[in-house]
Order: sequence, then C-alpha cells, then structure tokens
Amino acid sequence: MVRECWFCGEAAPPSWHDHVLGLHKDADTTMTPWIVVLRSTWRMEIVSVPRCARCHTGHQIERTAAVLALAALIAYAASGQLDRLLGILSSSTGERVVAAVWAAVACLPGLAWIAIRLGRLPWQRLAPRRMGYARHHPEYLELRADGWKPRAGPLHYWRSPPNPHHPPPANRPRRLIGGSFELLGAACGLAVPLAYFTGYEELAGVLIAATAGLLFVASKIKPED
Ligand SMILES: [Zn+2]
Repeated sequence: MVRECWFCGEAAPPSWHDHVLGLHKDADTTMTPWIVVLRSTWRMEIVSVPRCARCHTGHQIERTAAVLALAALIAYAASGQLDRLLGILSSSTGERVVAAVWAAVACLPGLAWIAIRLGRLPWQRLAPRRMGYARHHPEYLELRADGWKPRAGPLHYWRSPPNPHHPPPANRPRRLIGGSFELLGAACGLAVPLAYFTGYEELAGVLIAATAGLLFVASKIKPED
C-alpha cells in the first residue's frame, strides 16, 4: 500500500518531512527525598503523520508568515507609531496620516497569514491543509480516545518530539546563506537598543521585525539544528 501524505494525498515515504506529534500519559509528580526537587515522570508516544516535501514547505511558509505578522505588530508598537496614531504622543495631522499608513503596512503580513490559513492563496507551494489537520489523523485520534493527552509531556513541555528521520545534511551554499542570515539577524538585534536610545524609534521598530524575520528564516534554511 502506498503511504499517502495526510495533507494532500500524494505518495509520501517515511522521511524527515513527516509531521511528528507527541502524546503523553500517566504524568506523575513526586518529591525527591531529602532535597526538595519535583520530579515528573510520564509515558510518551509519538505519531509520525505522513507529509510530503511540498506540504512541509507549505507549513513552513505558513509559520514564517505567522512569525512575521507578530514581529510586524510588535515593531509597529515599539516604533511609537501606535502612540502617534492614538494621539498619546502629541502629533500633527500629517504625522497621524503617516502612522495610519504604517499601520496598514504592519497589518499586511497578518493578512497574508490569514489568507494562507484559509487556503485563499492560489500558490502551488502551499499545503492544501494546514498543520493542525494532523490532529485529525486516525492514529492520533485512537491514542487520544485511549486516554493519551496532547503534547509530548505535561506542564511546560511544549517542544515537539524529535523526528526519528534526520534531515539531509545542508549543502555548502545553503549553509553559507543560512549563516549570513543568522549574522545579519544578530547584527539587527544588537542595533535595536542603539537605535532606540539614540532617538530613532521607528528604526528600532523596523530592526526588531528584521531580527525576528532573519533569525527565523535562518533556522529554516539550516534545518540540521
Ligand atoms: Zn503533501
């Protein structure tokens, strides 16, 4: 039987493109003797939801759009434009118009993200179904019905379990591009307080967005870590 991608139905052999879901059960927290340290134990189970390369890319694009949308809003507020728009900072009509234009720009990544989630963008690279659809996979539902709880562990355990398949080693140009994005992102991050405290608040806002965007893209370009 052909293993089909859960998100689009194309053939998808087991690979690191699979979307790995974690579940846990029988969480128990005990006090260790003598030293007061809480120790949690639980059982973990993982479900590898078949996913093809295309849907993997599509889901990464969706997550990138989400990160950019959030970064744009934070950058907008941090740059002082929000205060100007709301009239908290005294501002002229001209400045308010500029603030309103920037507000529209800051909302663009958010709109793109919503369009992707609703499947409104006619772009081949996007996955037909979004990542959350993995939780409708029969294997996952069966475990849930069996008393397994979502996530790989209790409490603050939000990380996804590791994919048993390792990503292919990144080739040299890819590593170089990823490395330069990382460097650029770090440089932007360092420049944020500089710009802020020297009175260039708008620039600081743009730099916050640039830092988040660059570091996130770098992490996707260099998938081995
Ligand atoms: Zn697919």
